[in-house]
Amino acid sequence: MYAALFIFILGRADAWWERGHRIATEAVMRMLPSDMPRFLRASGDVLVPLSAAPDRWKKYGDLVHLGWRWDHFMDLELLDLPLGKFLEKFPDRFSAMEHWCGGNGRIPGFLPYHILELYEALKGVFGELKEKPSDPSLQVQALFFAGSLAHFAEDLSQPLHLTVHYDGRVDERGVVISNKGIHERFEGQLVEHIDVKDVLPYVHPPEELGNVKEALVRAMERSHGFVKEVYALDNRGELERTTPEAVRFAARRLAEGAQLVADLWYTAWARGGR
Ligand SMILES: [Zn+2]
Repeated sequence: MYAALFIFILGRADAWWERGHRIATEAVMRMLPSDMPRFLRASGDVLVPLSAAPDRWKKYGDLVHLGWRWDHFMDLELLDLPLGKFLEKFPDRFSAMEHWCGGNGRIPGFLPYHILELYEALKGVFGELKEKPSDPSLQVQALFFAGSLAHFAEDLSQPLHLTVHYDGRVDERGVVISNKGIHERFEGQLVEHIDVKDVLPYVHPPEELGNVKEALVRAMERSHGFVKEVYALDNRGELERTTPEAVRFAARRLAEGAQLVADLWYTAWARGGR
């Protein structure tokens, strides 16, 4: 089983390729209102590349790769409860892990946990920054948490990050039966044809979220609902031919990722120190 698990981990495809993350975070930078901290608004040259970086961390060695790999996805089909109920019952990654250890050995992934962890960390450091606005250490921490949060919240908007069918339709044993390579066709090759200007029409200034966890559940369930559309586009050859419909679809997914990031940053700033 361990050998199979190892292959499964290593074979797992990445998030939006570097370009997708850069486009989404570039859109976020253009959405930030003037009541957010100036140093943050002026740090696009740090935040944009940082939002693409977590996919490269795996190159820093197996320890890093195997330890953090699970934070980039969650296969919703493997949960034994609807996502909202699951997160209510298992509110942190360790309670979820304990639960999964008693199961069949398949780990759905920690994506929503990691997003919530980073959101809480960003809110915490924003709270400290309100006391000491020019503290350089706090500013660096805020940039690190914000850029990392952007990466993982953007991963969420890639429907194939929320499904066992992440790189081809699989049967109940997890063996690919069709559409092999869809992951790369969607988030790699297709996104080469997208620019930040394609994303901007679909975003608006950030808003303070009500319940952050509930907003995350809604966003994940909505994104998961698009899995079938990614497959339909692939079946019609539209991903490969990069048709206008496929480009528009991917731009909208990137826009929803960008909107979530902006709303999370904005909410963290509004509530930090409260
Ligand atoms: Zn990722």
